[in-house]
Amino acid sequence: MSPSLRARLGSGLLGLALLVPIAAAAPASAAAADFPAGFTGYHTYAEMSADLSAVAARYPAIARKIAIGKSYQGRTIWAVKISDNVATDEPEAEVLFDGGTHGDEHMGLEMTLKIMHWLVDGYGTVSRITNIVNSREIWIIPSVNPDGAAYDISGGRFHLWRKNRQPNAGTTAIGTDVNRNFGYRWGGGGRTSTNPAAITYQGPFAFSTPEARSVRDFLAGRVVNGRQQIRMAITFHEYGRLVMWPYGYTTTDIPADMTVDDYKGLVAIGTKMAASNGYRAQQASDLYGTSGTTRDFEYGVYRIFSYTFELSVKDYPDDALIASETGRNKEAVLYLMERAGCPLGILGSAYRIARCGAFDDDFEVSRGWRVNMAGTDTATAGAWQRGDPAPTTTAAGRKQPDSVTSGRYGFATGLAAGTSPAANDLDGGRTSTTSPTIALTASAGQKLQFRWSFAHDRTASAVDEFRVEVLEGAIATAVFVSRGGAWERSASWNLASIDMGRWAAKAIRLRFSATDGGGSGIVEAVFDDVRVTQPQ
Ligand SMILES: [Zn+2]
Repeated sequence: MSPSLRARLGSGLLGLALLVPIAAAAPASAAAADFPAGFTGYHTYAEMSADLSAVAARYPAIARKIAIGKSYQGRTIWAVKISDNVATDEPEAEVLFDGGTHGDEHMGLEMTLKIMHWLVDGYGTVSRITNIVNSREIWIIPSVNPDGAAYDISGGRFHLWRKNRQPNAGTTAIGTDVNRNFGYRWGGGGRTSTNPAAITYQGPFAFSTPEARSVRDFLAGRVVNGRQQIRMAITFHEYGRLVMWPYGYTTTDIPADMTVDDYKGLVAIGTKMAASNGYRAQQASDLYGTSGTTRDFEYGVYRIFSYTFELSVKDYPDDALIASETGRNKEAVLYLMERAGCPLGILGSAYRIARCGAFDDDFEVSRGWRVNMAGTDTATAGAWQRGDPAPTTTAAGRKQPDSVTSGRYGFATGLAAGTSPAANDLDGGRTSTTSPTIALTASAGQKLQFRWSFAHDRTASAVDEFRVEVLEGAIATAVFVSRGGAWERSASWNLASIDMGRWAAKAIRLRFSATDGGGSGIVEAVFDDVRVTQPQ
């Protein structure tokens, strides 16, 4: 309350009684602001929050309303989880839909609410919906930037307000573009600004906004057993009727931080979704370059197959267009949820067998392997590292290969080349790295497959080895051993394929070890693309 208002009200009992409704009126009217005429069919923050509460109350077995953080102005950022046994974190493929990252793009929030209602209202009556809800965990964040959306409609008119409402030090300019504030390739090129007054202001540092941090922390919380559970995502924006796959930060189709297989899968799925909704399918940077986006972060950090949908043919479509614009995406979002079981399966049966089994790791991102998990490793140098190996070569040939079999990363005994071929190779004993727990299916015919290289010089002997074991509780069973000997063995990539029938229906780990059993000679091991295939 202002000092002048206090003076006019006085300090008597009458003044105090009057004070309550007068004082409450100002913030209440701002909070209750509805959309301008012609747009009142859109949900305000309060209406959205009430809808989520109503759904969670009506469908408690399959829907939960969960707070994932707070906006700068203190609004709760809400998520809804939809799945059978919704209170339990089941080992089901997960999907994320978000909207409202940009304050003036209100159709995205409507899109996410439609998805929620298609799922909960269709559950138990529409078999396709029932199957999706039973086999997936679906996360919906309708309004990532509720402050921006509320400000955009404040005073009963639109403000073309895209950013959040966070002040910027040293300037009167308000707000950061939350979709430039994520910490993957943050601060790069494209339509991404360092000027706090710009609508694409990236913020003073990555994740400077509480809104982007809330999404970041939510995503981090979906890493279970070392692996990101969310397989596919759509972030809804407007406008342009586009389906866009990563990346926005580069115009290169397949940069080093994307595998060829992922690129093929991203394009195939994006193209299929676009065929159903009539949108144009393209790489995000085909629209314009961007850095620090939700989509690039989700794929770059977690390899989530993440798409941006640009809804509508214009900004501020009136509310009569909500039903048709969201409705035309129904097939695309249902397909996405179904595909989330194994995105790369879209590429055909060979991919389904190889990439849709009980385990699949291309080592491009960390998925929970632990070096020296038991604490018993004896190597004094050259322990396993996940990354991009540097080549080493002696007069007798290549010892550490300079590339891996997919993407840029694998596991190697000492990634760096060092000052000589003998530097950064394995020395002094054994190094091990152990996978997260793998739940094999009950079917026969599952195979453990991986790519490997084991190289040594002529000082080697049979005590030097590359070994793969299956761990079942305390029992370690060697399923693959390659031993050294007194000859020069150059690096070369090989495929191993091992029947896993005896571990069907078991929960196991894999342990990859390399040992330099004696002497000062060169021993180098590398592996990549560890998979348990589908039964075949
Ligand atoms: Zn947008």
